[in-house]
Amino acid sequence: MVKKLLYQLDSDARPSIFDNVVAFDGGADQVISFGGVLPQDLLAMAQGAIFTRAPKDKKNTAFFIGGSNLVQGEKLLEVLQSHFYGNFSVSVMIDTNGANTTASALVAMLSRTRSLEGLQAVVLAGTGPVGQRVSTLLASEGCRVVFTGRDDSKNQFCEQTISQRFGLSVQSRVLTDTQVRQELLQKADIVVATGASGVILLSRDEWSSLPNLKLLADASAAEQGGIEGIGQMDKGVTYGSIMAFGAIGFGPLKLAVHRACVAQLFENNKQVLDVFEIYAKAKELVGQFYSGGQST
Ligand code: NAP
Repeated sequence: MVKKLLYQLDSDARPSIFDNVVAFDGGADQVISFGGVLPQDLLAMAQGAIFTRAPKDKKNTAFFIGGSNLVQGEKLLEVLQSHFYGNFSVSVMIDTNGANTTASALVAMLSRTRSLEGLQAVVLAGTGPVGQRVSTLLASEGCRVVFTGRDDSKNQFCEQTISQRFGLSVQSRVLTDTQVRQELLQKADIVVATGASGVILLSRDEWSSLPNLKLLADASAAEQGGIEGIGQMDKGVTYGSIMAFGAIGFGPLKLAVHRACVAQLFENNKQVLDVFEIYAKAKELVGQFYSGGQST
């Protein structure tokens, strides 16, 4: 029996324990973790993976790219793939900072409540890995997306990256004063908070008075999340006419998607599981975790 080997490539000095555990739970027989991985390390790693097993057995070797830095992770993916050719390839999944699985689970739950087409979405503190992926997926569902961040040059960089990498248009705002903030939020049908852990981005008084708001979601798993007054465990809980999702509400779906994608890597040696492939898996699985409508 050929063992399923998953090589975990992390740009951080210490490879993520989270990714290591989920790799085993996703079905790998052995997980080999490398920290501090640089693009120049990948030729030898790729060759070690593609030249060692017969064509029918190559599907049992795969790579997982993690780390906390989205740009570095994407570079590792690009360079790793450049060393594959013909049938000399193995499958790869990228989930830098957990952003693809987290954003996919969050947006899949929102999309289960209603069509998101044409809705105005505001992604607060959307410049991190999770916020960029949430903005991308909401735009792919036909939302008009504005994300916020404190630094205009960082905002512009994220806008351009999403446009160049995915061909999707999103806009950004620096919320300099109360009036700009009010104008933006007043139009929002959807607000998602994707700020750093422990940063409060929206008060209950503020969101409860927004005239168009239908969906609220908070990615922060900190005890005090980024949106005041909704619960971490919320999964379609309603507050008046507003439906809310907290990080632990969609967390089990995120984990299931991560495990299922690891399992999918070993189906053949040609898979590249990036944000849209991972989102497709989230949409396939979401019904097992949330049937739509209000939960208590
Ligand atoms: P991140 O990169 O740490 O932070 C996101 C953004 O927050 C930053 O780009 C920054 O934007 C903004 N920010 C930082 N400090 C701030 C402050 N004091 N005031 C206002 N904005 C501030 O976040 P991430 O890694 O993308 O993760 C986003 C959230 O998802 C985190 O809360 C994380 O814990 C959570 N998460 C949840 C799961 C899950 O399974 N539920 C998985 C992964 C992550 P600017 O500098 O551009 O303003």
